[in-house]
Amino acid sequence: MSNRAWVTLATNDSYGLGALVLAHSLRRAGSVYPAVVLITPSVTDAMRGRLNAVFTNVVTVDVLDSRDAAHLALLQRPELGITFTKIHCWELTQYEKCVFLDADTLVVQNCDELFEREELSAAPDVGWPDCFNSGVFVYKPSQATFDELIKYAQERGSFDGGDQGLLNSFFSNWAQGDIGKHLPFLYNVTSAAFYSYLPALKHYGQNLKIIHFIGAAKPWLQQYNWESSSVDAPEHLREFLQLWWDLFVGQVHPQLDVTMSGVAGN
Ligand code: UDP
Ligand code: MN
Repeated sequence: MSNRAWVTLATNDSYGLGALVLAHSLRRAGSVYPAVVLITPSVTDAMRGRLNAVFTNVVTVDVLDSRDAAHLALLQRPELGITFTKIHCWELTQYEKCVFLDADTLVVQNCDELFEREELSAAPDVGWPDCFNSGVFVYKPSQATFDELIKYAQERGSFDGGDQGLLNSFFSNWAQGDIGKHLPFLYNVTSAAFYSYLPALKHYGQNLKIIHFIGAAKPWLQQYNWESSSVDAPEHLREFLQLWWDLFVGQVHPQLDVTMSGVAGN
């Protein structure tokens, strides 16, 4: 059991809030697996303290470390900064199998069964379903894979400038290979689906496992009414944003320093 872990990433305190809520959602769902967060030095000490209290392991990755292969690659491709930071998850070789979750995801129901899947398992992206969305993926930590990914990124970059383009090119047989590596969409329901196919969301929504708040409208940036304990959002999004905020208000906010609470809502 201990050789498996959930992994997320926060390069600043805002995404740190997302990571905290995500960790609480994993607990709430009764996951038996530990949660690890990758952070960069730009995360404040106060946030680091909060992350330490909730995550089993807080790992600082420094893309500016000159001993780091990623550093050299980054000098040539500065636009890939956050992407390279995410790729560091392959270096967690103390674990045999991991599931990476973006910090803007929320686990709604237990999905420990994901660890039975192989690298690289992921759900389709709604924008181009022959690509997987890189906000949720099952992978196997390996120094060799990390090195190959960095080399690949250095030589070819990423077609979308981010980790999703890089990972889709690297794991290019995902679309037409082993269907077992296609996670059901329920494991990464991106908020765009709420607009594009609302009847499906209504029909299948009760089986939803992981929600992913993609795009600019992150949960921590939403208007929250502290008097009525409700989040101000379009109807179909409200239920899920409310879940995020209930966890934030119940589990995360009471533990924050005064200086940090200003990062979310208003
Ligand atoms: N991330 C981060 N700092 C940033 C941007 C992104 O730590 O400034 C991490 C975080 O884990 C985030 C993930 O990278 O969830 C991918 O970015 P994002 O979720 O914003 O992309 P989207 O899912 O909206 O395409
Ligand atoms: Mn995301």
